[in-house]
Formats: sequence, structure tokens, C-alpha cells
Amino acid sequence: MESLFGDTYPVGEDLNPLFADIILPVPIPRMFTYKIPKSLAEGIGIGYRVIVQFGKKKVLTGIVGKVHAKPPQAYEAKPILDVLDAQATVNPLQIRLWAWMAEYYCCHIGEVMNAALPSGLKLSSESKIQINPLFDQETSAYPLDDRELVILEALAQREEMSYQDCENILGIKSIHGIIKSLVVKEAILVFEEVKDKFSPKVESRVRLVKRYAEDRDALEGLFASISGKPKQEEILLKYLQEVPVFHQVALNEKGLEKSVFAQAGLSQSALKTLVKNGVLEEFKVVVSRFQDELAASDPIQLSQEQEAAKASIKQQFEEKHTVLLHGITGSGKTEIYITLIEEALAGGSQVLLLLPEIALTTHMVDRLRKVFGGRMGVFHSKYSDNERVEVWNGVLSGKVSFVVGVRSSIFLPFDSLGLVIVDEEHESSYKQFDPAPRYQARDAAIMLAWLHQAKTLLGSATPSFESFYNARQKKYGYFQLKNRYGEAQLPEFHLADILADKKKNLLKLDSTRLLREKIQEALQRQEQVLIFQNRRGYAPYICCEDCGWIPGCDRCDVSLTYHQFGEEMRCHYCGFKEKVPHTCAACGSTKLGAVGLGTERIEESLALLFPEARIARMDLDTTRSKYGYQRLLEDFGSGNVDILVGTQMITKGLDFDRVTVVGIMDADRILYFPDFRAGERAFQQITQVAGRAGRRDKRGNVIIQTRRPDDQIFTQIMAGDYVNFYLQEMGERQRFFYPPFVKIIKVSTRHKEYKVAEKAARHLHQLMAEIPVKKIMLGPEKGLIGKIKDQYIFESVAKLDRTSQAQAQFKHDLQAALEEMQAHKDFKSVRFVVDVDPY
Ligand code: ADP
Ligand code: ZN
Ligand code: ZN
Repeated sequence: MESLFGDTYPVGEDLNPLFADIILPVPIPRMFTYKIPKSLAEGIGIGYRVIVQFGKKKVLTGIVGKVHAKPPQAYEAKPILDVLDAQATVNPLQIRLWAWMAEYYCCHIGEVMNAALPSGLKLSSESKIQINPLFDQETSAYPLDDRELVILEALAQREEMSYQDCENILGIKSIHGIIKSLVVKEAILVFEEVKDKFSPKVESRVRLVKRYAEDRDALEGLFASISGKPKQEEILLKYLQEVPVFHQVALNEKGLEKSVFAQAGLSQSALKTLVKNGVLEEFKVVVSRFQDELAASDPIQLSQEQEAAKASIKQQFEEKHTVLLHGITGSGKTEIYITLIEEALAGGSQVLLLLPEIALTTHMVDRLRKVFGGRMGVFHSKYSDNERVEVWNGVLSGKVSFVVGVRSSIFLPFDSLGLVIVDEEHESSYKQFDPAPRYQARDAAIMLAWLHQAKTLLGSATPSFESFYNARQKKYGYFQLKNRYGEAQLPEFHLADILADKKKNLLKLDSTRLLREKIQEALQRQEQVLIFQNRRGYAPYICCEDCGWIPGCDRCDVSLTYHQFGEEMRCHYCGFKEKVPHTCAACGSTKLGAVGLGTERIEESLALLFPEARIARMDLDTTRSKYGYQRLLEDFGSGNVDILVGTQMITKGLDFDRVTVVGIMDADRILYFPDFRAGERAFQQITQVAGRAGRRDKRGNVIIQTRRPDDQIFTQIMAGDYVNFYLQEMGERQRFFYPPFVKIIKVSTRHKEYKVAEKAARHLHQLMAEIPVKKIMLGPEKGLIGKIKDQYIFESVAKLDRTSQAQAQFKHDLQAALEEMQAHKDFKSVRFVVDVDPY
């Protein structure tokens, strides 16, 4: 495995380093060698941030990836200009992970660096311009036009300007052409501003000035002097109530947060007056964005089955790097994680627990917080950048030894991981689609653990086929938990035939009679209901009832989605939106109707069917804000909601005792999606959402609405027959060459002109086909969405032999092919995007 990246990016300190290879944020797939000047030799090493000159005029910041004594062959190495750090910002293990990612996912190590560093640690690269001191307008060979002269005149007065400044001065939008021309004429230089963006959180506080705090008589005198000013009195009383300085003078030192007074509705101007008059003094302190919480939970008593699982996992870790824990929903995987994490931490190791995006805001994190307190850091993508830098620094300083986080937490500066856990490992949200690096966090986490010689535990109720396959091949260890924790029973499944109900006129507002009955029963017993629909929006699209016209996005070649809120149409690919049309653009008819079934419309229909019920909806639209998701969960948890309608979001992490009915509105929509994973996903989603029904003592009901009740997959889902379903699907995948039997690499070719995109795609496809590796080539075809953001897209797919030699060779030759394409005069402005394991 070492050779995957070891040859390309060996990392080791040379005893007599003269040169450094620098990772730079440029789209060129390698590191760049620079000379280490004697003056800097002492304070430089792997992971330090440095400033170098790149090309003729640019100054960039990068990270030292390697130090050595070998001069570059092809060019004279330039010196490093400066070192920014007193100690390394990233450690050698991180750089090895970056290097592996760049190689495996066919991207540039600079792109990985960009994804890995929180922008607070990146050096802001806002470009600025200055006059070239060597420029002399009299003797210049190139005449300058009016606009260029304006810029030069402004520069003569201001020394430096940002692009934005230039645009403001000229009053035009795009300045790049003019800048480029000035650079070519050697009139100006472009440089990058170097500044560290992290800013700590500062709190404003007030306290009594010393005289009043330490002298009771002085304070009484003060009260007497302001007796006619009740507002000031109120402030002082509030202060003394919160900070009882008479009991303990030392308390005054810490003072009180200024915002406390505002929250209590007290007068801000009275507060100001007291400060002005020298009664209170203001001061600022730097505080952590995260409270130091103490662990507060009872020791965990594992059940017999959980004990057996834990013992088996530990034993399998003796000989295997990775173990798959396959446990039905409610089997208590979390408690097993907790005991394993505690043991790893006690042994002095760091631990990383990856969760899918949305599971991070649930009770799971609260539960872990109670056990691990301040040792635990949470790394969420909705956090501000400053919050993320704090977690980063917490890991660096050793204060945080355990991190719960989303996929990007694999980039934190761990130096001694002992255990990595990937919960819900089958989740498709572990894959990053855009931008590069397009990585699968589960797979990258396994590599990360391997680099640390740590162990990986994958957990799921419905494992991904890849992981289950690896377990059956004995590459991974495996343990199955077959029972729910405690007395909790699995739910009872019912199939509801949509078409049969329709024929008998029993279908009302998309609900079958069975579903309506079960909901009604639950409501009568004051129990809760979850309704699942695999789509957001009110209805997917608007359609003309006379001619069939459907409004589409001009830029993306997809139909616009109808959003009832705001009466607008939105493109889910590029964000384009417009008002709902009143007449058909093709025939002028006014009979335009909504087609399809989104969460918004289901919410409305249910409100009509169950007017007495309290109904809420959970999807991307209702949870956009940082705490939107949490608020909805709390509402539901505290019983303020009877029916919760939602998308995938409700399949994860909900653990509510009073949910006894789960309805799946349209199972066919999941099952007949055009994707080879549709079956796998349907099994996973339906099983996951069904798992929310009836935990504890009550047996739940799951109603699956479908037009094809005879499909065998339903029998298998209802019986929890994962293995037979797996075997059957794997037969198909083997026959039609799908993963895990082949490796898929997808290359998309994008250009704003259809003809150019098509021609480039064909050319590249030919080059790929010629690579001497066992494979099947598909395409080039217009992408599933033929056009995104005004770019036409063609895709070529290679299904590769699984051997690592075949993959390495293909990736290597593909790189060469792409460089050849990019150098071709017709294809200079064409964009190529490589996606490894794209699905
Ligand atoms: P999973 O993640 O496997 O779906 P959970 O870890 O959420 O299951 O466990 C299901 C429920 O059982 C939770 O409410 C959890 O608190 C409870 N539980 C599991 N194991 C234990 C245990 N050993 N002691 C007490 N409660 C447990
Ligand atoms: Zn029409
Ligand atoms: Zn669009």
C-alpha cells in the first residue's frame, strides 16, 4: 500500500536540507522545489507555511511538503522568501494523507490543501496590484490606452490597489482584461496580500471600579448620589445581584457580560452613563467559542449481546485494520462506540468519530457530550470558520482528544489516532461531489487510520455493498447485532397498493386508506407519525394541461421546481429562480398545473385530511438556518407536533419514543431512480426510516405505499433479509460490470459551446480508450443534466479492472492525456473534471 503514494511524495527530513518542495494553491499536479536560504534554514521544516515567488510576478504562500538535498533537474530553484510560522501548521501524517488523496482521486495536492485548511488558516489570497518600479512610460515599447492610464495614475497616488478598487475607479465590472494587458506591458505587478484571518471571540464585560468594589461606604455614597436616577440604580442592583462583591471582592475581577443588561431589558444609555462617570469600567476578554463542559453521565452497562460485539471487535482488531459492525436500528451501536472510545482515550490515543452531516445536530452529540465533556470537539460544516479553527487548535494543543465531525474532519491535525469510527458508513453524503478533491470520506478515513496505524470501525444497520463485500472477502472483520436493545420490537410492515386504491376510489389526496387509518389510530392514542418523501419542494414541476409544455432552466437543461412558498420556480442545480408563469409559453393556455408530489404538498394534503393534527415539515427548505433543524427536532421531541413530514433528514438519528407510525409516501420513486445503486439505496432508506417506528415497548407500524406491491425487494425489506437482497443484487452487478467488481472513473468535459465540448469529449475518449489497461469504456454521452451553469457537459466512464496496477497505470496515463488535451490549441478553454468512485 505504501507504494500508492510513497514513490511520489516520500516524506522525511534530510539531515542537511538545502531544498524544499512546496505545495502551492495552483492547478498543477505537483510540488515545486525552492532553495532554502541559509538565514531561514534553522526555522523551517515539513508543514511550515512559506512565501515564495511563483512564475515571474506572483507571490504565493504554500506549505513545505518535503525537505531534501536534491536540486531540481529542469530549472534553477528560486529561494524561499520568508517563513510564516514558528512551528509547523500541518504535520507529516496530514501531508501523507493529502498526497494519497491527490493521487487516488486524480486531483492536485494544492486542491487538497485548499480543502484541508480552514480558511482562517489559509492566507487570504486577494490579489492586489502595484506599479512595476522598473516601468518607464517614456521608453515603453507599448502604448497605453485611456483606461490603463487611469489605473496607472491612481496607482501613483495609492501605492497598491485591489481588483475591486480598479473596478470602482473605472466604473466597470470586469477588470481582468485590463490588468492582464498592464501586466503584459510590464507596467504593473500583481501580488497576494498575506494576512492571517483567524480572529478570536471577544466578549465585552463591565465591573465596578476598584474604589466602589472594595469600599462599602463609598458604594453606599454612590447609591445616595444617584437615588433620583432609577435606571442607573437598576443597573447597579442587577450587577450586585449577579456579582455579589460583598461576599467575595475577588468576584469583581471577572465582572459581568455587558449583554446581560440588555437581555434583562435595562437601559443601555444608563449603562453608558455609569461607565462615563467612572462607576463601572468596561473591559474585553478573549473567550472560547466552546464551553468547557464537564462529563456527567452514569457508567454504561452493556447488554450481553453488546459485550459480545465489543469483545469480538477488539479481538478482530488484533489482525485486521477494519471491522464492520452490522447492527439493526436500535441495537445500541452508540453505546459500543462509547466504551471503545473511552478505552482508546484512556490508552492515550486520539479518536475520530465521523457522522453524516445531519446526524450531527441530534441527541447523539448531546449523549456523547455527557460522556466526554470538554475532551470532545464537534466539527460541523455549519460552524463558522472561526469555530472550526478553534477545534483545529484544540486538537493541536491536545485539549481536544476526541472529535465528532462531518467528512472534512479527516483533515484535522491529528498526530496519534488510535481509533476511527464511521457511523452510518453506507451514507451517500460521505462522498464529496464538488469541488475537488472529490473524495469518499469513509474510504479516506480508512486510509487516515492506516497512516496512524490505528483501527477503523464501520457501523451501519444497512452496510454499503462495498463494505459488506469486503467483510465477506475477509478483508474486514465483521460482527452482526441482531436484536434491538432492551425489549424494543421491530415494527410491523404493511404494503399499501396505490393503484388498487385508486381504482376503488379510495385514494384521497395521495393517501391510501390503510395509511389514513393508521395515522388516525395513532392520533387518537396521542402517538406521533413520521411521513417520508424522497424529494423537496411543493411539486417537482409545472405542466401545461393542453400541450404538455414544462418550464425549464435556460442554463441547465432541467425542469424548474415549483415552490409554493413565494410562488416561484427554482432550478435546483444553479439556483436560478423566477415567478410562476400564468400562461403557457408554447400555446398560451392558462391551464397550468402542478405535477408530482413534494413534501410541501404532502404537508398540505395531510392538513386537509387531519385538520385537528399539528403538522410540521423537515427538509432542506425548513432547516436552512444553523439551528433550524434542531428547533424542529425539539418541537417534535417535546410533543408539540403530531405528524412530521420530511425527506432523508428524518431517516437519521431521530430517537423518539412516541413515534408509532411511519408512512412512506411513494416507495417507487426511490426504487425506480435511474442509477445502478437504486435498489441498494431503497433498501437502506426504507429500512432506516422504518427503524424510527416503535422503539421501547410499543410495536410500530410501517406503511409502504407503492404501485408495485409484488416487487421482491419489499418482501426482503420487510423480512430484514439483507443478505439475500445483497446476493441477488450482486449477481446483477457482476453481470453488468458495476462496483465493487470494477472501479469507475468518470471524466466530464465542459465548455460553453456545444460543438467544442462534444469535439473535446470525443478526442479525450479516444485517448482514454487507447490506455492499455483492461477496461470497459462508455460514452462520451451528454451528461444526465446536459448543461449546468451555461456549460455543456459530456461524460466518459471507464470501468476498470480492480487490480491496483491497472488503476495506477490508468490514472497515470489519464493525467498525461489530460495534459495533452489542455495543450491542444482548440481545447485551451475546455474544463475537464475527473471523478474517481463517482457514485
Ligand atoms: P443504534 O445506533 O444501533 O440504532 P442506539 O445506540 O441509538 O441504537 O440505541 C438504541 C436505544 O437503546 C437508545 O435509546 C440507547 O440509549 C439505548 N441503549 C442502547 N444500549 C444501551 C445500554 N447498554 N444501556 C442503556 N441504554 C442503552
Ligand atoms: Zn401549452
Ligand atoms: Zn439552472
